[in-house]
Amino acid sequence: MKAVRIHQFGGPEVLTYEDIPDPEPRKDQVLVRVRACSLNHLDLWVRQGLPGVKLPHIPGSDVAGEVAAIGDYVTGFTLGQRVVVAPMHYCGRCVKCVAGLQNQCREFTVLGNAVDGGDCELIAVPAANVIPIPHSLDFNQAASVPLVFVTAWHMLVGLAGVRPGQTVLVLGGSSGVGIAAIQIAKLFHCRVITTAGNEAKLEKAHALGADHGIDHYKQKISDEVRKLTNKQGVDIVVEHVGLATWDESIRSLKTAGTLVTCGATTGPNVAIDLRHLFARQLRLLGSYMGTMAELHEVLGHVFAGRLKPVVDRCFPLSEIRAAHEYLASSQMFGKVVVNPSV
Ligand SMILES: [Zn+2]
Repeated sequence: MKAVRIHQFGGPEVLTYEDIPDPEPRKDQVLVRVRACSLNHLDLWVRQGLPGVKLPHIPGSDVAGEVAAIGDYVTGFTLGQRVVVAPMHYCGRCVKCVAGLQNQCREFTVLGNAVDGGDCELIAVPAANVIPIPHSLDFNQAASVPLVFVTAWHMLVGLAGVRPGQTVLVLGGSSGVGIAAIQIAKLFHCRVITTAGNEAKLEKAHALGADHGIDHYKQKISDEVRKLTNKQGVDIVVEHVGLATWDESIRSLKTAGTLVTCGATTGPNVAIDLRHLFARQLRLLGSYMGTMAELHEVLGHVFAGRLKPVVDRCFPLSEIRAAHEYLASSQMFGKVVVNPSV
């Protein structure tokens, strides 16, 4: 099969499009023919070098495609069935996994991170990871859902415990997680304030349901939040930007507000004034992916049309370098997808 692999860490030039043997599915696995794989910032980190990535390595976390072969021990699927692949890798037998907390498993990793991913034509995955999709979703849309929507759902619903009518600040409203978080917060009838780097992106965020937009290059986020909330601040901040916005995110919280973070795109090392943390009784929560149950729950809303994936642009798999460069340029609103040739 054709696959994108990295043999060394570095810039887009280390991504090679090459022929490798087809994967052999185990008897408890399903072989999926990849029709679309969406990119995440994780792809850029993996390419640049993360601990636990063994070379050569196939990146790519979010796969949609068709069932191409079914292991002997697997029932309930048909050849050609349209499916999305859950991007989680976990042991399935530890106390965390059997409790349904797969993202706390010691073996937990994301497809395309410490295990080979979906930037290829065929991928073999455990049957539990294979989820049928309705015809209302095309492959590019389906591939744009799993990682960002399960991440945003776990942050807002699983950890922050969002309640109807709260005010939520979503940093980076044009990013994959931002687009998911805006829609999930609106599903809970929250008031949503979001940030983006230009007017066109803010317009698109409004169209997704965001009530207020802040241009983070032209406006001071916490000042705008204070104006919009009668000096109260917000109940929940959805963070993933890191260093560039951390202080503003903390300042934007109301007393006893919750900041939940899943990333540090602009840098991981931030400072915090502990007097603010205890005197204002803030909650700071770290979030990583989500559980299989949360993925099924959020997919239910996507399948019903209540949450919508946003696809920005598709590239042929052979043009993976251009796709990575485009993702790194932050011009997009929504997901960047690669497609193996049919
Ligand atoms: Zn486990």
